[in-house]
Amino acid sequence: MSDDANTPLNEQPSWHPATQAVRAGVARSEFAETSEGLFLTSGYVFSSAQEAADTFAGEVDHYVYSRYTNPTVRMFEERLATLEGAEDCKATASGMSAIFASLAVLLKQGDRVVASSSMFGAIIYVVNEFFPQWGVECVLVDPTDNDAWAEALSVPTQAVLFETPSNPLLAMVDIEVVAELAHAAGATVIVDNVFATPVFSKPLTQGADVVVYSATKHIDGQGRVLGGAVLGTVDYIAKIEMLLRNLGPSMSPFNAWVLLKGLETLDLRVRRMAENAEAVARFLEAHPKVDTTIYPLLDSFPQKDLVAKQLTGGGTVVAVKLAAGQAEAFKFMDSLAIFDISNNLGDAKSLVTHPATTTHRRIGPEGRAAAGITDGTVRFSIGLEDSRDLIADLAQALEKL
Ligand SMILES: *Cc1c(COP(=O)(O)O)cnc(C)c1O
Repeated sequence: MSDDANTPLNEQPSWHPATQAVRAGVARSEFAETSEGLFLTSGYVFSSAQEAADTFAGEVDHYVYSRYTNPTVRMFEERLATLEGAEDCKATASGMSAIFASLAVLLKQGDRVVASSSMFGAIIYVVNEFFPQWGVECVLVDPTDNDAWAEALSVPTQAVLFETPSNPLLAMVDIEVVAELAHAAGATVIVDNVFATPVFSKPLTQGADVVVYSATKHIDGQGRVLGGAVLGTVDYIAKIEMLLRNLGPSMSPFNAWVLLKGLETLDLRVRRMAENAEAVARFLEAHPKVDTTIYPLLDSFPQKDLVAKQLTGGGTVVAVKLAAGQAEAFKFMDSLAIFDISNNLGDAKSLVTHPATTTHRRIGPEGRAAAGITDGTVRFSIGLEDSRDLIADLAQALEKL
C-alpha cells in the first residue's frame, strides 16, 4: 500500500459527482490492481518494535487494527466524503450505528435533542427511549412545521436530527430554516439523507453540519450488506472515530468493498430508479382506485416549493393511500407479481410495504395519525425493472380491488 492510515482526501473539486463516485479515494497497492483491493485483514504488521511503539505514540502513520481503520474501509470513506463534499467520513457497521454515534458524541446527561417526529422507527427509539434513560431530554416536532421547530429550538439544545424526505410519506424539512434556528440554539444539525441520496440532495451545502447514511439502502442498492456512514468536519469525525474505535461498531472490510463498488453505479442506478418512480407515481395518481399518490415531483405534492429548493430529483419512493383501508391494501400487495413484499428500500428490486403493520407498527394509532399514515397507506420502493412492467403489474393488482 502506498497509502497510509490518514491520507488527506483525494478530492478533485473539478470532478462531477458521477466521476467522484467512480474515482475518488482509490489507493492502489503495489500490485496496481484496477478494482479496489479487498483488504480482508483484522490486523497489521510492524517492521520493528520501535515502529509499533512510534505508531502507538502517534508519531508514525501506520494501520493498527481494523476496528480503528482498514485500507478498504478508508477508500469507501474517502470516496463518500468527496461525493458529499464533507471534510471527512467514518464508516459504521449499519445505518443505526451511524445515527447512534452521530448523537452519542454530542450528548451528555442534562442535554437536549430536538428531532423530527417522522423518522425511521429505530431512530425514534434511540432519541425518545434510549437517550432519555441517560438523562437526555428529547423533543419531537412535526417536520413540516417551521413554527414548531422555532418553539422547540427557543431554548439551548445540543443536537437536531431529521430525515428529509421522510419515511413513508416523504414529508420535507426546510434544512436552511431549521439549521438557522438550531445554530442559534447552539445545536449541531444532523441530517439522515437516505431518502434523498447523495445524488439528489447535499444537506451540507444547505446549512447541515453532519450527514448520516444507511449505506444498506441505495449505496449498496442490491440487497447484500449492511453499512452506515457519518460525514462532517475533521474535528467532529475524529470524535466519531474515537467512539467507534473504543465501542466497536466498525464497518467490515468486506462490506466496505461491496459498498465501494456500489458507489461506482450509484448515480446511474438512483437516476434510473427515480425515472421509474416518477412514471409509476404518474400512473398511480391517474388511477381511479387510488385516492392519494405521494411523490415529490407531482403537482399535488404539498411542499412543492421546498422540493424545488432542496431536491434535484424526486427520489425512488412512492406512497399511495387507498380509502378502503388495510384489507384492500393487503389484497393489492398480495396481488402484485413483480414487487416483493419487504420493508427494505433503495434496492434494484421493486419492493412494497404496509407501514401501519410493519415499519410504523410500534408508534401506535396516535403516532400514525399524527404522521398521516392510514391503514390504507402502501409504500413502494421503485427498483431497476422496466417501468412498463411495473405499471402493468400495478394495473392488474388494482383491477382486483
Ligand atoms: C434503513 C434506515 C436506517 C437504518 O439503517 P440500517 O442500515 O438498517 O441500520 C436509518 N435511516 C433511514 C432513513 C433508513 O431508511
